Formats: sequence, C-alpha cells, structure tokens
Amino acid sequence: MRAVRNALTVVGVVTIVAGLTVTAAPAQAATAGVGTSCAPGTLSVQALASGCTTTSGTVVTPDGRTFAIPAPGESVMASSSSAPGARELPDVVVANNGSAGVAVRVDEEWSGSAPAVEQERAEHSAPATSGAAASAASSAAAAAPAATTAASTKCTSAAWEPTGYRWASTVKWYYNESGQKSTYAKKALRKGANAWTGTISACDRTVTSTASNTYLRLATQKPNLTDQGGCSRNNGYNVMGWGKLPSGVLGVTCVWFDGNGTAREADQRYATGFRWSSTETCSGSRFDTQVVATHEWGHLYGLDHVQTGTGQVMEPSGGYCQLSSRTLGRGDMTGIDSLY
Ligand SMILES: [Zn+2]
Repeated sequence: MRAVRNALTVVGVVTIVAGLTVTAAPAQAATAGVGTSCAPGTLSVQALASGCTTTSGTVVTPDGRTFAIPAPGESVMASSSSAPGARELPDVVVANNGSAGVAVRVDEEWSGSAPAVEQERAEHSAPATSGAAASAASSAAAAAPAATTAASTKCTSAAWEPTGYRWASTVKWYYNESGQKSTYAKKALRKGANAWTGTISACDRTVTSTASNTYLRLATQKPNLTDQGGCSRNNGYNVMGWGKLPSGVLGVTCVWFDGNGTAREADQRYATGFRWSSTETCSGSRFDTQVVATHEWGHLYGLDHVQTGTGQVMEPSGGYCQLSSRTLGRGDMTGIDSLY
C-alpha cells in the first residue's frame, strides 16, 4: 500500500506520501490556479486541483463530507470504524501545503485530477484478496455480525499499516459525556486508550510502547467532527464524545498533524445510533464500547486499517460484543512497537 502511495502523482496538486514526504507537482501540471487564492466558501476537490492556496475554508469530499481546511503546513486525517456489512467510510486526508495548494486523499486515492484517479485505478485493479474481503464483509450483513476469523489469525498475522503521523508527547484528553450510551462509556474509552501504552502482553509476547495519554476531565466542548463524519475546525483540545454519524459507522477519529508527521490534536466521535455495552460485560446485539474505543485509539496513535480477516484490532469493522478485540493482535503490537 505504501508503495502505491509512493507511485502516485497528482496533477495540479501536491502529493503527500503517507503524510510525511512532499513531492513536486509534475511538469504537465495545470498551473493556472497555482499561487492564486481559492474562492471563498465550500470547495470541491476539483476546485482545489487548480492549485489555489488558502489559509481557511471548507472542502467537500465526493461522498459529501465536509472538512475544514487545516492551517497551512498542516493536515487532517479522518479514520473510522464500521459495523460489519455496512459501507465503510473511506479514510480522508486533507493536506494544506500552503503556497503549493491543498491536496485531498480519499482512501488510497489522492483526488483532484482525473488522470491521477485513472492511474491509481489501474494500479489497484482489485487484487483477489481485497475482493474476498469485500464479499466476506457483505455476506456478514445478512447474518448477525459475529466474531469472524479473529481468533485464528489474531496472533499469527503481523499486519499493520501506518497513517503517517505519530505523537511526540502525551495525549492529554477530555471526555464529553453528552449523549453517551452508558455511564460505563468513559471507563471503556480510558481502557481503549491504555490498550496501546506501556508494557503490552498478548499473543505470548510482550512489547513496550512509549505511546501515552492522560485523561484530564469532563468537558462541555464537543469533538470537532460533523454528523457526516468529517473533521471541522480544530481548536487545540483533544475531546472524545458522542453524536450522530452516518449509517453503519460506529466511530470516527480526526487527527491533525504537521508537515513532519507530528500529531497536534485528535478528536473522536462515537455513534449514538447503536446499542452499546452498558457495563464491563457485553451481551446480545450490542457493540462493545471498549472494543471500538481500542480501535479508534489505534487510529489516534497512528495506525491505519488492515485487511479484514487478519484478526487485528485495526480491521475496518467488528461485530457485536467482539470482546477478543479488547486486546491487541500480533500486528497491532508490531505497529505500536514500531511507532513508539
Ligand atoms: Zn477504523
């Protein structure tokens, strides 16, 4: 996946490789808009492809999510968790490269110009493994979602993917209990946050992670996310809370990071439209708050999705009460150990 990102060239905008490396636009880039200011208001991906520059404003992705354009030199990434069988909300990165323009990535595709999109479609051309994963996901929609093959591959698969950012300091965070589905939720989020820190023992191995977080206190500020799962204007506070999200989406994490890949802020929203575990135990057709929180905190620390069937916490979706995903798999542990 990283190789594909490296191979990508987006005409008219700047390509960021995993959020870390900036490469120059190609010679054939449309230069008409480069260096000029973007029109005010909400901008489409196509409008940004002109290479216009902006210090603020909003971009709308093809699936209708709006993102507040981050400050020049900064990027924002949205990652989510879905119910089995539900349409996955693609990862989105909005990178404000200052005088070089604003670039948008949806899933693995840097958008903004037709040639680049076509190039990447050719490169991706549906490998058999992702096709199998997709059909497995859609067949899961018919049956009650359940723990899939997690138990068999959790400790054998080393799969993990980096988002391109990491934290250089402790994540100090607030919790907004407005709309929460149980009084147990805050404790569940704290457990999810701590699943990736310190000495982690699972799958007959132990790693030591320097990732760290400190829960500060309850907040009345809301996480900077929209009802569609986009990221709104950041404000310097890391706030986790509850609210509306698109159908089938369990949670979304937005992370703002600088040009060196250092994370500056993260907010999370968990969906109020589901039944969630209300105590430490989980039963029936509920999603386990701690399981989903562990996944979302994986995104927060810098881990991206891995393929369905690998049994890792960072699979894109998880079933009802999939309690095995309260603890990390081999790939999850490899990832957090590599990043921290
Ligand atoms: Zn996710």
